[in-house]
Amino acid sequence: MYKAIVINKDESGYRANLQTLDESALPEGDVTVKVDYSCLNYKDGLAITGKGPVVRKFPMTPGIDLAGSVVSSEHPGFAVGDAVVLNGWGVGEGHPGGLAQMARLKGDWLIPLPAGVTPRQAMAVGTAGYTAMLCVLGLEKSGVTPDQGEILVTGAAGGVGSVAVAILARLGYTVVASSGRPEETDYLKTLGAAEVMDRKLLSEPGKPLARERWAGAVDTVGGHTLANVCASTKYLGTVTACGLAGGADLPATVMPFILRGVTLKGIDSVMAPKAARLEAWERIGVDLDMDKLELMVNEIGLDEAIETAGRLLEGKVRGRTIVNVNR
Ligand code: NDP
Repeated sequence: MYKAIVINKDESGYRANLQTLDESALPEGDVTVKVDYSCLNYKDGLAITGKGPVVRKFPMTPGIDLAGSVVSSEHPGFAVGDAVVLNGWGVGEGHPGGLAQMARLKGDWLIPLPAGVTPRQAMAVGTAGYTAMLCVLGLEKSGVTPDQGEILVTGAAGGVGSVAVAILARLGYTVVASSGRPEETDYLKTLGAAEVMDRKLLSEPGKPLARERWAGAVDTVGGHTLANVCASTKYLGTVTACGLAGGADLPATVMPFILRGVTLKGIDSVMAPKAARLEAWERIGVDLDMDKLELMVNEIGLDEAIETAGRLLEGKVRGRTIVNVNR
């Protein structure tokens, strides 16, 4: 028997609750994992509350991330006792996920827990942190270097934003953090932000081109914010777009792209190929200060995940929420 959050949708409505399940409830898969930690990402918030069409099958256990150890394996790459991490691949959306004490998965989705990283730290990073690293790699691969000027991070006090600020600052970039929470200014500066700006300065409709300020950007917000970020990015700068916390639309013009050669680079973590994942996790082990990571962490038990999911979507949760599924 194991505990799991289960989402149902039927004539009684959309609801999530904590249940005790028999192992026969585990899905198909060639590797069974005893989960140590999972976490809450924005997408988990959408899945648990039903505020976004994330879950594709019911009943469903949410949790797009997990870290734990292999208890049985028919996959040649994994043996009993191996410590593993899973991020994305539609887990927690179409295949039962990490907000449970047990999970059965395709071995091809798993990666070995990076050396020196604990399961707890891996979930403090989670999809949010690994996506932040994909954004940083996106900037680097576009040739953005610390000497070119300021890098903007939007939604900075959230999960992706917090990790992006910490990594970029450690790499020597001058980071400007955009946030709607002035009370998090000290937190963001401790993570390494040189300046914190009010997100209202970016969220209203703006001009097609504005004063050139950013050498690069990590945008988790979308909507007018992303349009304004592109409009104020310097000649040949790069904006990595990974999120929609402020909206899925993009009310922009082509001007930054055709007059300033700005690159708008899309970042997806869910179906990212294994090589990109391994590269991102390796760099996380090197370029993310684990003491800074700990400052972002709020640890909860499985029984608190449903309530916390609602607060996460309201933008009331700072940094990263990890779920100790055995607490
Ligand atoms: P969080 O909820 O932790 O952070 C989102 C942050 O966005 C909030 O903390 C807040 O930051 C800001 N925000 C919230 N609402 C608004 C709003 N209406 N207008 C402007 N800013 C707002 O989420 P995550 O960090 O986990 O995810 C961030 C985004 O990235 C989400 O949209 C998520 O879906 C996406 N994402 C995409 C991935 C991919 O593969 N492309 C992977 C992971 C995440 P503050 O208070 O500082 O303003």
